[in-house]
Parts: sequence; C-alpha cells; structure tokens
Amino acid sequence: MLSVKEVPFHRTHITEEEIGEVVDSLRSGWLTMGPKTLRFEEDFKGYLGVGHAVSMNSCTSSLHLALRALGIGPGDEVIVPDITFSATAEAVCYTGATPVIVDVEEYTGNIDIGAVERAITPKTRSIIPVHYTGQPCDMDELRLLAEPDGIYLVEDAAHSLPAWYKGAPVGSTGDITCFSFYATKTLSTGEGGMAVTACDEWASSMKRGRLHGISRDAWDRYSKEGAWFYEVVELGYKYNMTDIQAALGLIQLKKLERMWKCRVDIARRYTEAFENISDIIYTPVVKSDRISSWHLYVVQLNIGALCVDRASIIEQLKLAGVSTSVHFIPLHIHPFYRDTFGISGKDFPVAEERFKRMISLPIYPGMTDTEVDFVIDTVISTLKRYRR
Ligand SMILES: *Cc1c(COP(=O)(O)O)cnc(C)c1O
Repeated sequence: MLSVKEVPFHRTHITEEEIGEVVDSLRSGWLTMGPKTLRFEEDFKGYLGVGHAVSMNSCTSSLHLALRALGIGPGDEVIVPDITFSATAEAVCYTGATPVIVDVEEYTGNIDIGAVERAITPKTRSIIPVHYTGQPCDMDELRLLAEPDGIYLVEDAAHSLPAWYKGAPVGSTGDITCFSFYATKTLSTGEGGMAVTACDEWASSMKRGRLHGISRDAWDRYSKEGAWFYEVVELGYKYNMTDIQAALGLIQLKKLERMWKCRVDIARRYTEAFENISDIIYTPVVKSDRISSWHLYVVQLNIGALCVDRASIIEQLKLAGVSTSVHFIPLHIHPFYRDTFGISGKDFPVAEERFKRMISLPIYPGMTDTEVDFVIDTVISTLKRYRR
C-alpha cells in the first residue's frame, strides 16, 4: 500500500466523462448558453422535483436575482447569519437593501431562530438561511416567523446539494433556493449557480435578469419580424451559464448521490475516530430530522484543554501533511461589514467563540481510505501533543 505523506484540503472530482462532455461542447461550436444549459436545468428540476430551475454564472448572482425577483430594494432589511461566506450579505447589498446580520446556533452553526425573531422589524422583507456545511436550518420555525409578516425565505443552499429536511430535498423548502457550482462545491461546473422556485413569476424575472433584461415574450410576439428581434424591457445583468459549464453539470448531477455517499462515509469515519478524544475535539452534530450533504466537516477544538491556539493547530497539521481550512471568518470580522454596519464581536457571542475553535477537515469524493486514516491519525496525534 502506498503511504500517504500529504492530504490536500480539496481535490476536484473530474473524470474522463466530464472531459468528454466538455470536448463535445467545444466541437459542437456552441460555447455559450444553449441546448446543454437547458438540458441541465431540466435535469436539475427533475432531480429536486421543483417547478423551475434558472441557471446562472454563480450562486452569488442567483441570490442577487432572487432578491430582485421578490422586489427587495433600498429601505428593506434582509436577515443573514454572521457565519457565512461574504456572498450571502453581498447579494443583499447589490439590491440596495440592508443586510441585518444575526448570531448562529452553538451546535450546528446555523442561523439562530431566537436571534432572527429579535431582528425582525417592519422593514424585514426576507431571511436568508444558510444551510451551513450542508445541514438544513430550522425551516419550519423560520416559516412560522416569516409567513405571517409576508417575509420571504431565500435559501443560500451553496453547501446543501443534496440535503433533506424532514424528508423534503433542500430546494423545495424555501421560496427561492440558490445553489453554487463553484470549484470546491458538491457539484461543480468550475463556476456556476442555480436558483429554483415553484413560482412562475419569480422564475421569469430571474430569466430576464440573467440576460440583459431581454424578454422572451417579445421574442414570441414579434417572431415574424425575424430571429434578430428582441426587446430589453428592464435593467438586466450578464449572469447566464454557458454550455461548457452545463456539460460539467450534466455529468456531475448523474454522479451526485454517489459522490454524496463518499462524503457521508468519510464523515462517519471521522466522527467515530474522534470519539476517543471527545474532551479536546467536538465533532459536528446533525439534528435527527435532517440529512446533511456533508459539503464540509467542521470540528470545534476545546481551546481550554489545549496549550496552543487554533492557528497553531492548523500550522502543525499542515506541517504534518494535512491541509485544513476555516469556514468562515464571520462577517463581523471583515472590515467592510464591521465598519459599514457598525457591528463587532460582542453582537455575536456564539459566532465569535465558535470562530476561535473551528477547523474544516478534508472531505471529498476520491479521498482514499488511507488518506482518511492519515487525516485521523494526524489530527489525533497533533491534538494529544498539545493537550494541557
Ligand atoms: C460558495 C458560497 C457562496 C457563493 O457561491 P458562488 O457560486 O461562488 O457565487 C455563497 N454562499 C455560501 C455559504 C458559499 O459557501
């Protein structure tokens, strides 16, 4: 057996099948949005069993056009969690609305329901739950808070393909759900995103918005004018997906559940192995009525039981051959959000504390058993060495 000396934090899972499909696009001469993009949308819609799937060039664009479709703009407030990638709050800013950043739940790292409740004002128009690491948020509780006031739930599902909440796939659980196909995500098209919704009107709005505000209706109405005719009916953006990206997506979607099972297996092995050192490492907790995609495996260190900080542990793991990461630096720590919205760590005690303890371990299909064992052994020996 080959011995492992190094395990990268991520490795893309691209096989000859994806390469063949991309080459087919290149040979076909159709490089931008075209037949494969439409087929990918159909397949995606079918997989989740939703009404509409609107492909885009990123999840960030999808979040932007989702909020825009809901009519959210200047003067409105949108509630987002403190622990997320900057894109969640950024998309709110694009519309001119104000992101209202709230604390997260201690064990799951998902948006805290009590904090959401306290943050709701007459200006609140939407909540963006981020299904952090792939575990769905408390959607029923959020729905109860949101619905009476006409507040929309726009899911940031960048981590949660596939994931299930009380038996329902994420994608059928919000008003609009946005997925990411960024290079490191659970389905990758290099860059890409998809917004899904049951609502015809929001789907049409996002379809116009992603391509310069061009209306398909005009196309149909004036088709006798010739194929060259189109009408721009509103301000739009250049957010469309290309057939080269969709080629990757078509193949990756077919393998999605197989790739997911690999991550489930790695997560199970980590959790079992770390039970022996449960005084220095806290493994992720998934609530019993939901299923995680396991996009990320985030452990929390019991810093009080160690004689060094999180940064030193990351450094030592790296020296020993295990690359890790941190998801995420909370929004309140970034100068833009801190200074623009006048927030600081004391506003988010749980996120602030969690941030000092989190480490994301490698988890991806294609990781060998030997690599998983190597990560386990390295983490255990490193932590034991620095135990107080
Ligand atoms: C990756 C990510 C995004 C952004 O996705 P892009 O496709 O890169 O725009 C948004 N939210 C979260 C939580 C993410 O992790």
